Amino acid sequence: MKVLVINAGSSSLKYQLYDMRDESVLASGRVERIGMDSSIVTHEPVDKPEVRQVSEILDHVTAVKRVTEMLTNPEFGAISHMNEIEAVGHRVVHGGEVFSSSVLVTPEVKLEIRRLFDLAPLHNPAHMMGITAVETNMPDVPQAVVFDTAFHQTMPNTSYLYPIPTVLYRRHKIRRYGFHGTSHSYVSAQAAAYLKKPLESLKMITCHIGNGASCTAILDGKSYDTSMGMTPLEGLMMGTRSGDLDPAIVPFVMNKEELTLNEVNSMLNKHSGMLAVSGISSDMREVTEAMRDGDKNAKLAFDMYAYRVKKYIGSYAAAMNGLDTLVFTAGVGENSAALRKAVCEGITFLGLELDEECNAERRKDIREISTDNSRVKVLVVPTNEELLIARDTYNLVKQAQTS
Ligand code: AMP
Repeated sequence: MKVLVINAGSSSLKYQLYDMRDESVLASGRVERIGMDSSIVTHEPVDKPEVRQVSEILDHVTAVKRVTEMLTNPEFGAISHMNEIEAVGHRVVHGGEVFSSSVLVTPEVKLEIRRLFDLAPLHNPAHMMGITAVETNMPDVPQAVVFDTAFHQTMPNTSYLYPIPTVLYRRHKIRRYGFHGTSHSYVSAQAAAYLKKPLESLKMITCHIGNGASCTAILDGKSYDTSMGMTPLEGLMMGTRSGDLDPAIVPFVMNKEELTLNEVNSMLNKHSGMLAVSGISSDMREVTEAMRDGDKNAKLAFDMYAYRVKKYIGSYAAAMNGLDTLVFTAGVGENSAALRKAVCEGITFLGLELDEECNAERRKDIREISTDNSRVKVLVVPTNEELLIARDTYNLVKQAQTS
């Protein structure tokens, strides 16, 4: 079965086509600047050069049409006919309390995703446009949705409730949901398989550290707590997001700086984090380089960033009464040996010992970076959210076909 994975944003759409017989990627690509003139389609076939086309793509329906044209192109396509695509899987950021696993798209599911627009106003409407666009272009192809929040629906209420008037939870569903669930779920399963141990037997912390960043405590194979909250702003310091701060800062800054709510929201989401502290960049590579060149603010940003990851690891080890496995993943987690070293230094009291040589190695595969004597196993696990979406979609469609 060939499965097309789609991650639709408001003005972009990323895609990846899988052959599920061996889970190989046949082609991938992205459409950017949807709704603007000079939209760009970048198509990356496997073993052929990248193709880039600029044209006008005014909506998601046209974007999906262009994707299917790319995939079936006789010269650089990956399939000969659209009907080879037997299922489409979508990434959906917010599944609220309704979705604790991936599901096939039905009219009821679409209604629920619409009901959740309030909780993810920047993401869910765009995902919905992607689902509708596939329906228009491929009306007979089954679709599935895979939610960033679903993995965290196992959190107990002690983890997911905020200590604020409970009426706000009842009326508006204000609670912690957590994000990056697809990645935390994928890398935790990979780590357990690598260690040849059942996931349920491990007390694990997964650190997804990329532009957005979150830590998850995994107990009995399930998400027990995670650092992102009702929105992806809570938790760790990130590229441009503040992460945890005193909520009283919001009205204080509004008052002192004469800012509107929208302006403060934008400040905390887009102009804070590593970018604000370093004054240089939200990109870990640039900050690390500046730090090595002696820039004091870059060093402060790096140190604060690592310190906050370390604090979450400590608190989750306490929450689970122990730690067996620590996993690093995503852009920074997979690639920055310096960040991993800074985080792991000083948590030796947990029985964690980093193998500095292994940590410094530049590799792309799953690997252990703790010493043989380390009681806590530290792993670097490349994440692959698209593959998990393809797998869930394949399994749901297969199940529906056989039942
Ligand atoms: P992601 O959101 O997972 O794509 O991660 C993006 C982040 O990963 C950016 O901050 C990049 O600077 C960081 N990153 C990517 N490659 C490296 C690298 N080789 N060393 C340090 N950071 C990296």
